[in-house]
Amino acid sequence: MERDQNFLLFNYFRPTMYLESYKKVNLEALKNSGIKLILCDMDNTLIRFDERIPSIDVINFVRKVNEMGFEFVIFSNNIKSRVTKCAQKAGVKNYFWNCKKPFLGKLKVVKKLFRYKNNEIILIGDQLITDVFVANRANIKSILVEPLSKTIIGDNKIVRFIEKFIFKTMNRKNLLHEGFYNESEYEDGYEIL
Ligand SMILES: [Mg+2]
Repeated sequence: MERDQNFLLFNYFRPTMYLESYKKVNLEALKNSGIKLILCDMDNTLIRFDERIPSIDVINFVRKVNEMGFEFVIFSNNIKSRVTKCAQKAGVKNYFWNCKKPFLGKLKVVKKLFRYKNNEIILIGDQLITDVFVANRANIKSILVEPLSKTIIGDNKIVRFIEKFIFKTMNRKNLLHEGFYNESEYEDGYEIL
């Protein structure tokens, strides 16, 4: 009994997909799977902690996402000034700061605002215990990406420590293997479960 409960608990940290970077996201496949709203973490997903402005790759990614008719929203735990600056420089219209992931409050607000069904929403982020966890709690899909920077600062040390433990356990339970990305399996127009 205890074992099964454990297993269920770790399922909350299981992303729908695991990729090396946001650059590897197959937007055509997302479109074909019926995704309409992309929520995206900011720090270490689109931009490193020590960077202040988004790279040309991020700007191009946002442009492509917009051209393809997705709704794109930055969904960050960081403060207003940093999120606003990054979003505006990247050409993102909709952005939310201080989201307090993995708490569900802000995500509920976003869902109400955009009125998409759960299976039309996906969240991209680099952390299991904030991004993937909040997505699973909200019953939406998620893409885990590798953090842009491995440098750990401040509070994040604790978060990373717990995350390492979760990765190790999930590896043992054969739920997720760190560094083994999904892209090769899904290269030609994968469908998301
Ligand atoms: Mg992050």
